[in-house]
Amino acid sequence: MRVLFVSPEVFPLVKTGGLGDVAGALPVALQAAGADLRLLMPAYGGTRAATNAKPVAALGDPFGLGETVVLQGRLPGNGLKVWLVDNPALFDRPGGPYQDSDGLDWADNDLRFALLAWAAARLSQPSSPLAWKPDILHGHDWQCGLAGAYLQAWGGPRPGIVFTIHNMAFQGLFPSSLMPRIGLPWSLYTMAGCEFWDQLSYLKAGLVYADRLTTVSPSYAGEIQLPAGGFGLEGVLAERAAILSGILNGADYRIWDPATDGELSRRYGAEEVAAGKAANKAVIQAELGLSADPEATLLVVVSRLSDQKGMDLLLAAIPAALAQGAQLALLGSGERPYEQALLALAEARPTQVAVRIGYSEPLAHRLQAAGDVLVMPSRFEPCGLTQIYALRYGTVPVVRRTGGLADTVVDATYDSMLQGTATGFVFDQPTAAQLQWSLERAIGLYRRRPQWLQLQRQGMAQSFTWEKAAEAYLDLYREIRPVGISVKSSRRAQV
Ligand code: ADP
Repeated sequence: MRVLFVSPEVFPLVKTGGLGDVAGALPVALQAAGADLRLLMPAYGGTRAATNAKPVAALGDPFGLGETVVLQGRLPGNGLKVWLVDNPALFDRPGGPYQDSDGLDWADNDLRFALLAWAAARLSQPSSPLAWKPDILHGHDWQCGLAGAYLQAWGGPRPGIVFTIHNMAFQGLFPSSLMPRIGLPWSLYTMAGCEFWDQLSYLKAGLVYADRLTTVSPSYAGEIQLPAGGFGLEGVLAERAAILSGILNGADYRIWDPATDGELSRRYGAEEVAAGKAANKAVIQAELGLSADPEATLLVVVSRLSDQKGMDLLLAAIPAALAQGAQLALLGSGERPYEQALLALAEARPTQVAVRIGYSEPLAHRLQAAGDVLVMPSRFEPCGLTQIYALRYGTVPVVRRTGGLADTVVDATYDSMLQGTATGFVFDQPTAAQLQWSLERAIGLYRRRPQWLQLQRQGMAQSFTWEKAAEAYLDLYREIRPVGISVKSSRRAQV
């Protein structure tokens, strides 16, 4: 099974959130389970050197922006083969993969991710300049959405197409005038195609031209078929429900395990969780200027700062938790008003609240290890990896019952504690009052150490492995027949 796995971000090369983690780990698990896989991503600045990539094919100049070349390299750490779509005018620049250093979307994201999708489609054709051709083209999120549209437009033999939704809120909506600019025929600009309320939707293209759709948790697969979760595309998804499934993400425990995590001041397993956490907590309290209080419940947040992540709920509920003696340590970046409000809170209560705006992989690990409670009050959450990591670190998650949070955290009730299944605190409605109540429950139980330890250990015993997810994806790939390609002719020499 040859799989071309296309993603706009791949850890450890480029990461803005969960998709980066997924694209850094799922391909490794797929390959271990027997798939023959190539990762495809843009050649952002630095990726060429990091993967030691060399040119292997020229793709021409489809958009008049200079030659596009495919570079082949290896992913650091695991040696996976990665193909970089090299077009310096579009990808080689300082800043993030989607935004500049001021947090503004790149003005040419339409062309950048049209080119990524175009390259994916081109490499999936029998006439691709590379000998290796995929049986499955697996794209992720709106940035890869147009790949199926190109293959549809070009006709002819093609691989099976799988499209995975990591977040319905990001749609890649652009003016319809872009269609000829990126080489798509107007015949696809219809309600049954990639038109969405008079705009070109890259996400919708991903949804309508795929053979199978997946999303990253079973609950989210249901939610996106309803108005509250579908962001206007719920009808398209409900219509395609028969080919839509939810496959829960895994965690890469080679990177997220407190027993082996090289970022931590002290490593620990489930047996030493109390002592291990106390040591990490003392170091973080000193580093962030929080009072050196081992008894204060340390609430941690590692998050994009957005409405989706319920940052307004956090701001409204946190004073009550602080009044009960809790501390808050937050790492995040995102919408300016949230950054400012959080910084103001930290300034007002420097020994109780520490806020670090920015992106830091090491600090994210150390907060997971130091925290007693991870707060994740998301309005919606396709899967969420942060709470899955928290469970492994013995950091008890407080989450809203939505999407992947509902699928991974079991609320601590009298019964679930008795049965040994409780792993966190889960509330139903996205209100400050419900979050506040859950935080009070957490702070209350933290004072009852034997029960708290039980809760931590039950969380640490959870295992959300990529191996399991990879098996589910492989089963799905096997269900799809490539269009117009005989199995024999798709087996060509490897590059
Ligand atoms: P999402 O993909 O919606 O942002 P997830 O919980 O699925 O949320 O994944 C978030 C990932 O990004 C986790 O690996 C988390 O540790 C990381 N992360 C989020 N914000 C930051 C930050 N400011 N610094 C470092 N890592 C972060």
